[in-house]
Amino acid sequence: MTHTDIAIIGGGLVGASMACALAPLISRYGLDVTVIEPSPVQHGQPQSSFDDRSSAIAYGSRRCFESLGVWKGMQEKACPITSIHVSQRGYLGVTRLSCRDTHTEALGYVIGNRWMGHVLHQRLAELPISWRCPASVQRIVPEKEGHCLTLDDGSTLNAALTVMADGGRSGLKGQLGIRDDVTPYEQYALIANVTLSTPHQGVAYERFTSEGPIALLPLQGRRMALVWTQSLEGLTRTRALSDAGFLEQLQRCFGDRVGRFVEVGQRMDYPLALRQAREQTRPYLAMLGNAAHTLHPVAGQGFNLALRGVQDLTREIQQALEQDEAIGSASVMGRFDARRQQDRDQIIRFSDGLVRLFGVEHPLLAHARGLGLIGMNLFSPARRLLTRRAMGL
Ligand SMILES: Cc1cc2nc3c(=O)[nH]c(=O)nc-3n(C[C@H](O)[C@H](O)[C@H](O)COP(=O)(O)OP(=O)(O)OC[C@H]3O[C@@H](n4cnc5c(N)ncnc54)[C@H](O)[C@@H]3O)c2cc1C
Repeated sequence: MTHTDIAIIGGGLVGASMACALAPLISRYGLDVTVIEPSPVQHGQPQSSFDDRSSAIAYGSRRCFESLGVWKGMQEKACPITSIHVSQRGYLGVTRLSCRDTHTEALGYVIGNRWMGHVLHQRLAELPISWRCPASVQRIVPEKEGHCLTLDDGSTLNAALTVMADGGRSGLKGQLGIRDDVTPYEQYALIANVTLSTPHQGVAYERFTSEGPIALLPLQGRRMALVWTQSLEGLTRTRALSDAGFLEQLQRCFGDRVGRFVEVGQRMDYPLALRQAREQTRPYLAMLGNAAHTLHPVAGQGFNLALRGVQDLTREIQQALEQDEAIGSASVMGRFDARRQQDRDQIIRFSDGLVRLFGVEHPLLAHARGLGLIGMNLFSPARRLLTRRAMGL
């Protein structure tokens, strides 16, 4: 049985970020950190578990990446979002959020998940951590002061603190009797990169249509990352379309605001549900990222929320080390949970509320939403509040 201070289950975006965040504590306190990841990653090589999606990274997450020492690498392929344009098709009313209001160079950035994974793993390669890969955790059993993890090669690892960042689909939470609250949206996110006939000027668009919200995020060059929410029926029809037919349908639904859509890359789709672990912590155990919560991507908040969790958990671990407390003790985990609760609840309510508010097809409600968007645009304190929320500040 090998012992480790902190075992991170999963080296995806969140697990890798957590390991990078621990770097100062590894050097200052000689912490022993182990990351376990099944995908055969070689540091510095693209990781297969990172797909072709791109993520909107809020300005606050840029600061987090700076503190992790990975922003310089991320920045190479980051496209700044200078404004966000929110509208609904067929009705009046637009809200524009701009980085001019916040005196920052951008409201956020769009970065490919594969690139983020590559940069995080390059940083991990520089750290004195134990990297168990390819390896997966098959069994987790609580012990007196930690957990015993059994890996697929039969080896066992005893961890004083286990950080569950496995994406929530491994069944490990179930082994501990931790259940999820799940609200299926009966919607799918269709994602693809599209090329435009004209420059996008760094504008991100959120357009609510009767077929579901369409988000377009600016990428480097004339490309944009599309996240199009559809019902199963709509998705089945869209999947059957040729690329030309797809571009035509997208143009019809989105309109001409960004010029013409001229090319589309590989299309992928994801079923959407609001999922939240009923217990976010237990003594010697903390959930992060998709293992803790998966949100509707309408507001692009899932990974940003997880990064704030990474920062808060790191702070609590540091405080425990300074005060000579056990890093996974019930009081440390309780403080971490309490610190996260408000942010988590607010972001979940915000994302879920947007889906529900704009999901109801009724002309009166649509006009009311339009008035809301106009009001938000005119009333600068409300607009600034929304902008700061979008920026993760
Ligand atoms: C369509 C879409 C668009 C999105 N857009 C945005 C956005 O714009 N902005 C934003 O902030 N968020 C966005 N999100 C959310 C974001 O993608 C997630 O928050 C993020 O990917 C979660 O990462 P994770 O590391 O928790 O999980 P995952 O990416 O699922 O990683 C889990 C890791 O654990 C490993 N693993 C699994 N089982 C085991 C095991 N038994 N043992 C060890 N390791 C294991 C896996 O191999 C994997 O590497 C979006 C989500 C979707 C679906």
